[in-house]
This record gives sequence, C-alpha cells and structure tokens, in this order.
Amino acid sequence: MTIEFVNPPRRILMGPGPSEIHPRVLAAMAAPTVGHLDPYFLQIMDEVQSMLRQVFRTRNEMTLAVSGTGSAGMEACVVNLIERGDRMVVGVNGVFGGRMTDTAERAGAEVTRIERPFGEVFSVDDVAEAVDRVQPKVVGLVHAETSTGALQPLEEISRVVHDAGALLLVDCVTSLGGLPVEIDKWQVDAAYSGTQKCLSCPPGLAPVTFSANAVEAMDARTSKVQSWYLDMSMVRQYWGENRAYHHTAPINMNYGLHEALRLALDEGLETRFARHQRNHGALKAGLAALGIRYSVAEGMQLPMLNSVLIPDGVNDGEVRSTLLNRFGIEIGGGLGPMKGKTWRIGLMGEASREPNVLLFLAALEACLAAQGGAVVPGAGVAAANAAYAADK
Ligand SMILES: *Cc1c(COP(=O)(O)O)cnc(C)c1O
Repeated sequence: MTIEFVNPPRRILMGPGPSEIHPRVLAAMAAPTVGHLDPYFLQIMDEVQSMLRQVFRTRNEMTLAVSGTGSAGMEACVVNLIERGDRMVVGVNGVFGGRMTDTAERAGAEVTRIERPFGEVFSVDDVAEAVDRVQPKVVGLVHAETSTGALQPLEEISRVVHDAGALLLVDCVTSLGGLPVEIDKWQVDAAYSGTQKCLSCPPGLAPVTFSANAVEAMDARTSKVQSWYLDMSMVRQYWGENRAYHHTAPINMNYGLHEALRLALDEGLETRFARHQRNHGALKAGLAALGIRYSVAEGMQLPMLNSVLIPDGVNDGEVRSTLLNRFGIEIGGGLGPMKGKTWRIGLMGEASREPNVLLFLAALEACLAAQGGAVVPGAGVAAANAAYAADK
C-alpha cells in the first residue's frame, strides 16, 4: 500500500509523548519557509530565546533550541560539559538516567552511577555521599522520570552539588511547561528539554540553557567537543550576535515552538501548572474508583505522567489496543523492568484537559468490563466528576 497523501488517524495522545498539539501550533508550522538568516527568522529566534528564558525561569544568556529531539538536548549538555576522563555522577532511577550514563560514557566520562529502584527518587544524602566520594565535575539527574512517573526534588541537592564544586545537569524534558522548573532559583547549571511533552509542540527541537558557570567550564576546555553538530561554541555563534552559519535551523519547527511558547505564556505558567495538578487529581480519583493504584508513592507522583499498576488478570496489550483502535486514545506501556506491569497515562500540555480525563476513564472501564473485571458501572467517571466539582 502506498500513502498518496498524508492523512493520519485522529488520536488523543495520552501517552508519554508526543502530546496533543494546539491547532495554532500546527498552523504556524505550515507558514511559508524563509531563509535561516532572513531578518524575519532572526526575530523568531530572538523571541524563542526570550520566551524559553521565561519558561525555564532563567536569565541565562545561553538559552536556545537545539535542532533535534530531547535526546539531542541531553547529548548537547553532556558532550559540551564533559572532556575525556572527567568524572560524572549520574542518578539512575529509570530509563532516562540510564540513557544519560550511556551518553556520558560515549563522551569519555568516568561515570559513577548511583541507583534507586524504578519509581523512587534520590535523597540529599544519596547525592552528598556520592559527590564526597567521587568529587565529580558534573552531577546529572532527571527531574521528571517519564519511564517511572516519579518527581525528583532538586533545590537542596543543588546546594550539595555546588558545595562540592560540581556542576548540576538536569533533564527537564517532561517537567518543562507542566511543573515549576526554576533554573536560577535552584542554581541548575545546565538543563535540556524537548518540545513534544508539556510544551505541546511536535518533536524536533530541544530547549537548552547553560549558566555562567557552565559556560565558563565550556570555555576552559582544552579539547574539542566530540560532536561537531552539537558543539555549543559554534551553535552559539549562530544564535548569538554573529549569526554565523553553522547548520540550517529547522525553520518551521521554530515557528511551531514560537507559537507553543506563546500559548504557554499567554495561559500563564502558574495557571498551567495548576491545570496539570487539577486534571491529575481527577484522573487519580477516577482510577482509584476503578481499583487502580499508582506505582509511585503519594507526594512523588508526576501530574503529567501517571504511572499506574496494571490490575492482576488484565491483558495489557489488549487494553491498549482497544483504547487505540476503538476509542482513538493512546497511552503508554511500561518501560524497562516495568514492561507489562504499568500503564503510563500522559496528561501533558494540551492533553491535560477535563474531557480527556472523563473520556479515558469511560473507555478504560469498558476495556476492563470486557475482560470480566468487577467494575461498578460509571464509578470512575463519577469519582472524577466529584473531584472536579470539589476543586472548583
Ligand atoms: C522523552 C524524554 C527524553 C528523550 O527525548 P526524545 O525527544 O525522545 O529524544 C529524555 N528524557 C526524558 C525524561 C524524557 O521524557
């Protein structure tokens, strides 16, 4: 079969990303392409940088959108901060911490992994012990582990990392735009994100930001960055005043990100965070009424990524394919050791809406009933409605 024109099915994206996209973002991406040095595009770049600073809550000069997905942002941060033989501590409590160690090892770092079981997070003491022992140049942590649904607190850990003279690198791919990310207040030295999670833009760009200390460490390098494409000393010449050609920026992706950031800031970050919490709360009430529990302890649960235990006797694949094929809803399965054990229900950005929560609960109930589950008809939807009513 050949696709004569692209006409994808309509889906409700409630998985671990990509999330739903506002029609205005898609419309912006369909605008005419201009040159990558066109004054119009240069203004788009300036405004993207300025809006990214607002979303990251930073004054960092070096704040821009790397061409590539979130993993390119991860790699850009790691390869620019690390030189062969540098020591790095990475917190691994899920798939993305694991990916960070792989990236760092490929860049020649001497990596020390600290580990917590999937679904748990690191304490200040866990990190303090490791930095005392290793004396690393960089400590890497994942703020919102999309593979497990757990939220890593950072503010106190940042103090411990800096007291040891190290730089703090944080993965904010899933948290940015859905939870407070305070780059300056928490003194995060380098952070990366992606466009397709809570910023609700298609995948393709990776917002990054580097503190003055991180830039100083990059300027003090004695070896070239191992990646030509992601070498920030060159990329910054294009995003900065020189506008020196490095690579052709994905023009229309930047249009899309510009519109997505504008929508986020128009809504207001605090309002947006509250919306994510409210829909998370209603979903949780509905799931509880269907007898479904979270795989992460209360207080560490991500509002945008609800990781829940698949009830005993329920067929994971069947439920997810029925959700997709009959109801048009995509959710995620478990990753790594959680495969077959959890569902990951995303309420990211545009997808974090009351109608999605109610439709999903009704659809899930139908799936469970079809498998002979003992669910009280309508219990999930009723509990979510009650939670919304109580949260007016
Ligand atoms: C999605 C994600 C990534 C990887 O981003 P891609 O856009 O898939 O390359 C990295 N870290 C976290 C926490 C993520 O959720």
